[in-house]
Amino acid sequence: MSVTGEHRMLIDGELVEAESGATYANVNPATEEVIGQVADAAAPDMDRAISSARRAFDESEWATNPELRIRGLRQLHEALNKERETLRPQIVAEVGAPIMLTYAVQMDSCIDDMEWDIECINRIEWEYDLPIHEFFGMRSARRVVREPIGVVGAITPWNFPFMLNLSKIVPALAAGNSVVLKPAPDTPWSATFIGKLVAEYTDIPSGVFNVVTSGDPATVGQMLTDDPRVDMISFTGSTAVGKRIMAGGAETLKRVFLELGGKSANIVLDDADLAAQAGMGAMVCMHGGQGCAITTRMLLPRSRYDEGVELLKAAFEGWSYGDPTDPANMQGPLINARQRDRVLGYIEQGKAEGARLLVGGNRPPQFEKGYYVEPTLFVDVDPDSTLAQEEIFGPVLSVIPYETDDDAVRIANNSKYGLSGAVNGKDLDRAYGIAKRIRTGTIAVNGGQWFGPDSPFGGYKQSGLGREHGIAGFEEYLETKTIGLPAPE
Ligand code: NAD
Repeated sequence: MSVTGEHRMLIDGELVEAESGATYANVNPATEEVIGQVADAAAPDMDRAISSARRAFDESEWATNPELRIRGLRQLHEALNKERETLRPQIVAEVGAPIMLTYAVQMDSCIDDMEWDIECINRIEWEYDLPIHEFFGMRSARRVVREPIGVVGAITPWNFPFMLNLSKIVPALAAGNSVVLKPAPDTPWSATFIGKLVAEYTDIPSGVFNVVTSGDPATVGQMLTDDPRVDMISFTGSTAVGKRIMAGGAETLKRVFLELGGKSANIVLDDADLAAQAGMGAMVCMHGGQGCAITTRMLLPRSRYDEGVELLKAAFEGWSYGDPTDPANMQGPLINARQRDRVLGYIEQGKAEGARLLVGGNRPPQFEKGYYVEPTLFVDVDPDSTLAQEEIFGPVLSVIPYETDDDAVRIANNSKYGLSGAVNGKDLDRAYGIAKRIRTGTIAVNGGQWFGPDSPFGGYKQSGLGREHGIAGFEEYLETKTIGLPAPE
């Protein structure tokens, strides 16, 4: 079945080609085939998108008319609902995402959750009064007013592109901002699709939402961080690029919101169901391990280490992967050859540093095409080694033995990252007590899911700044103004 997507960008209310007419190829990572072309923006295109977003914020009624925002965003929601089955194969084709994941977090759940963010327009206390205050002999009333920040540059990665695009643009727009979305070069259709629906189905004023695609992300992405007309950058991606964005934004003191990398630990306690945990361990391979919050380190108690390792070996050997259009597969290819080679490089380094490779570690010989890596299990991993410290972003689990609960907490916290994690054991109070000692923004205890439209999500340490989702996530897109007024007589 041939799948195609929208090749034009959305700038100032119009679906447009790049000014130069340039395009670049969108490649299916499972087949390595070119599935279509997309506009390849350069500086003049980004400049036009930023000025239209600026004008829309300053001159349209988007920032000040909540009814218009609710109407426009509900029209978009309705259009997404109507067009789900057009989008689904596009996501599978350009991301290499297992189709089963599009029925959950890759697509359906974020469309379902969109109304929660729209409803925040009614949930937020946009204005409230503080008590009368006496200062310099004068009694004053004070009103606190919440306002949108202005122009938001949204920069997103390729692993869950559609979900992450919506996670940024819906709260940013609902809060009254205008947005320039710059998606990752590998996954442009997950953004241009939204641009097309905004243009064709909604009353969202021209310039309020713009999409700029480019094969040269550093140039046009950097323009967003540097430009004084942009007030905020909302970024999801690697910690390395996040640091560059923060440094670039410093010159114009931009608000910077960062969702970055992770190296999360699953602490398996000595009274845990090890068979169930082995199944969880293999889940690291879901979507080829290309998830920021996946628990890529498993901490096993020394007292049950051999038993746990045997069960993990069986789980990895039985894991089914391959063609992402096959609903039986929860692992497809990695996004591109560069990423595959990067992951294989980490595997070689792991072996060189002395970890024991138990399963996988290679390109699977059964696939002639596609950027696949075998489900890979390393055991006896040194907690200070590269395998245990770096975000690999591939289907690789590192198993680390520990002696005591304190030891497990110390190893789990021995990371520059602090995004997520898990604790599993029979005794809920013990597991919960350990979870409270882990320095991460989210954590799952005994299989409990922390994810939801109203759950704040984000990182401690070098995993990020700020929170996405929930009221805290919505408030990232607001400024606070305090107005002093004479106290009433
Ligand atoms: P990346 O950092 O390479 O790129 C992310 C985005 O930044 C892309 O759109 C890219 O084109 C753009 N970009 C690259 N250089 C830029 C520059 N100099 N200026 C402005 N923009 C620039 O990340 P990636 O490889 O696309 O995605 C994988 C990373 O994303 C992983 O580290 C993963 O952990 C992280 N991630 C984090 C979360 C989270 O919520 N914490 C979610 C998903 C992915």
